[in-house]
Amino acid sequence: MAIALPRIDVAREFLDELLRVSASEGGGVIRIAYGQGEQEAHEALRAIGSKYGFPVEQDFAGNTYVRLKGRDSAAKCVVIGSHLDSVPHGGNYDGALGVAIGLAAIAGIAASGRTLERDVLVMGVRAEESCYFPAPYIGSRMALGDLPAHTFNSLKRSDTGRSLADHMQELGFDPAAVLRGERHLSADTVACYLEAHIEQGPVLENEGIPLGIVQAIAGGPRWREGRIYGTYAHAGGAPKGYRQDAVAALGEFIHEVNLLWDRFHEQGIYTLFTFGIIGTVPEMHTYSRVPGEARFCLDTRCIDTDVRVRIGQEIDKIAQAISARHGVTFEWGADSGPNISPMAPDMQAGLHSAAERLGVPCKAMASGAGHDASAFADLGIPSAMLFVRNQHGSHNKDETVQMEDVQLGASVLAEFLCSTFGQDSRG
Ligand SMILES: [Zn+2]
Repeated sequence: MAIALPRIDVAREFLDELLRVSASEGGGVIRIAYGQGEQEAHEALRAIGSKYGFPVEQDFAGNTYVRLKGRDSAAKCVVIGSHLDSVPHGGNYDGALGVAIGLAAIAGIAASGRTLERDVLVMGVRAEESCYFPAPYIGSRMALGDLPAHTFNSLKRSDTGRSLADHMQELGFDPAAVLRGERHLSADTVACYLEAHIEQGPVLENEGIPLGIVQAIAGGPRWREGRIYGTYAHAGGAPKGYRQDAVAALGEFIHEVNLLWDRFHEQGIYTLFTFGIIGTVPEMHTYSRVPGEARFCLDTRCIDTDVRVRIGQEIDKIAQAISARHGVTFEWGADSGPNISPMAPDMQAGLHSAAERLGVPCKAMASGAGHDASAFADLGIPSAMLFVRNQHGSHNKDETVQMEDVQLGASVLAEFLCSTFGQDSRG
């Protein structure tokens, strides 16, 4: 039987409408979490879902769901989700493309006249970008009843200073349901979660491969408040061997961590190391003083729990050697790094087979960036992610993607759904 061809015209119509409602004069799009652009994106999703004959729902947190009805609506459903907010002056595809691909897939399946064994929900997720509220995956975690009240109550939007509850209420949603820990989705009602997303990086483009199938969403130790303490001294009065220079120690530390990264890389082990902020203390530093304190943030990422442990051990070893050599001490502060979220092996295999049947090249790869799929996977809901090759990265106005690649992504997704949940679909 022929595969269900995705309705790529529906994806395009949705993306065009998003651009129309959220394009910014300063370039790119602005869809602030629980702000106007995001709200209009959800209204666009509701409108297009209804236009093509699908029931549309919204949960207490304002996430929107377009439902493709299956034979047994009481069975656990399949959720195809992604976020509809964007960073300020971001691209139109980061997040929204996953919803567009979900729409194209279910519209294609509906047009083919086949009925899957269970319902599929295309979910437009709220507030994924943490630039607005400083916590990850807010919309999906609220839907899953997994945003603790103390976190929820602490969240204020970066541009308004007003609380998340306040912004939700303004749009007619129900913050009290979040505080009660209500769950719109759970492992008891969701069979699996799928998320398509632009890659946001250069790998697929450079390797000439249209799709990526994610093995795991990276986690790793992260220190936002790292400190190296030495001794402030006169730049002329403290000769070599008589100073504890915190900046010299930090420089060596950065160098050694990058050499560690080289060693992982040479062994073919996926890791990422980033010193996002470094500095001295503005109140104390000056031209002619040996710095007595240096500060750093260190973000590490990997997709293997053993590697996560090794990163911690190796960095500790490096710091001890530098402490001894320079007479400084390291203080780390809290490790705020997330756990690794592995994607479900059988879903990865199912996506690879679907791609193979369609003759679409794809690559198994890590997701260095966080995604809503983490929130689902962390609660034991089998989850998978499909990356679509894109150009010019993301979180910028030049981010782009080719519709031919979107078509391939939607085809693989539709084929996966039909082969996994179609029963008679491959007769
Ligand atoms: Zn995103």
